Amino acid sequence: MTLDLPVTTDEILTTDVHLVQSWADLNALKQNGARTAIVAAEGSYVTDSEGNKLIDGIGGLWCVNVGHKRAEIIDAVTDQLNTLDFYSTFYSFTHPAAAALAEKLAQLAPGNLNKVHFGNSGSVANETAVRVLHHYYKRLGRPKKRMVLSRHGAYHGSTHLAIAMTTPGYSEGWHKAEGVVHHLAKPHFWREGDGMTEPEFLDSLMADMKASIESIGAENIACFIGEPIMGAGGVIVPPAGYHRRAAELCARYDIKVISDEVVTSFGRLGHFFASRDLFDFQPDIITTAKGLTSGYQPLSATIFADEVHEVISAPGAMFTHGMTYSGHPAAAAAGLANIALMERDDLPGQVQTTGKLFENTLRGLADLDIVGEVRGSHFMMGIELVKDKATKAMFDPDLNIGMRVAQAAQKRGLVARPLGNILILSPVLILTPAQIAEVGGILRDSIAEVMDDLAA
Ligand code: PMP
Repeated sequence: MTLDLPVTTDEILTTDVHLVQSWADLNALKQNGARTAIVAAEGSYVTDSEGNKLIDGIGGLWCVNVGHKRAEIIDAVTDQLNTLDFYSTFYSFTHPAAAALAEKLAQLAPGNLNKVHFGNSGSVANETAVRVLHHYYKRLGRPKKRMVLSRHGAYHGSTHLAIAMTTPGYSEGWHKAEGVVHHLAKPHFWREGDGMTEPEFLDSLMADMKASIESIGAENIACFIGEPIMGAGGVIVPPAGYHRRAAELCARYDIKVISDEVVTSFGRLGHFFASRDLFDFQPDIITTAKGLTSGYQPLSATIFADEVHEVISAPGAMFTHGMTYSGHPAAAAAGLANIALMERDDLPGQVQTTGKLFENTLRGLADLDIVGEVRGSHFMMGIELVKDKATKAMFDPDLNIGMRVAQAAQKRGLVARPLGNILILSPVLILTPAQIAEVGGILRDSIAEVMDDLAA
């Protein structure tokens, strides 16, 4: 069936009035309509409704890892829909695609993480992780163990519990789950570590964590959740050794560790999973989404340790959790084809070279007067723009500096994502060295243009 979709920019924006965008200034959209309609995509590029071809510098939303319009994934999804469009994984039902993808994830995930529950978003994967641990501790006769340790600056999703685990600033003016989450300090050395060396800063973070555990009481804490690199909180890479030490501290207090790898997995940092391979720690649960299917289908996974599964599958334990679309056949097929593609081309291995080139190209922008810090790793980068480099003073939010640089970049053919005064780059992982150089050039020119505007 050919769909009768709106085509011109006018038609799309008129139709769009019924669509409620996510994480948006709805009043501004009511006044001005959506800013950009993306109508097609191929490889490293997206096309807008005006026919402009733009480098996808944000990989859809940190997710289109293998690039757009990959026939291998589209064919696998189509074949799956032709064979079995939908069946659930409720009760005792299973189907080949969900079973095969769970097996594949158990092979790829580090250590004893061999059990997989599927969801359809990163938020749900994180909610599932916490619910599973609550159930686990209840089964062990320790129902008081329910608090979650998270961090200022974290992003774990926008459902009721996930937003409570997210940095408090994001839920101002909204209700969220109360009394379940405690936020530890943000592990951002450049902003928070004044007067300390990086190892001293790390010690202070661990002292904060230990003091929090002792004041709340380990008997009341179920888990610590952390992104290996904080994404939507501004691409914060913690001090070297942070995750390993946090995991050791948690183990000492019998607190489970959830590694939120919704962004950091499936090649973005040069490995299928970053927890063990890049950050040298073994979580009890890994949550993932985004790059799991490269965004071709909505799918998330909560991958948990055998030992957790042993407890929740003991006699008399009913697993009363799951979503209709958990392990959807078409989504599972997309995941399998996506991983097969990544393995065939050794995409994570390639990223160890091209991602480093991308990182170093962006680090080269640090000489510009308003670039305070360029941070991140491989294809997960943030550029913080500041009014004064020496004092790290921030720009007045009303100046919309991030948005102005992003708009200047878009005019030059690159989609970048402004987050206040931070510019986020999380591109498709198939950028060539020439495209990486182009991204660097566009960013340099765009930041320079905004600097000129400010001077004027
Ligand atoms: N965790 C992290 C680290 C994320 O970046 C995100 C989304 N950007 C989520 C969880 C939530 O995922 P979703 O939007 O699919 O619910």
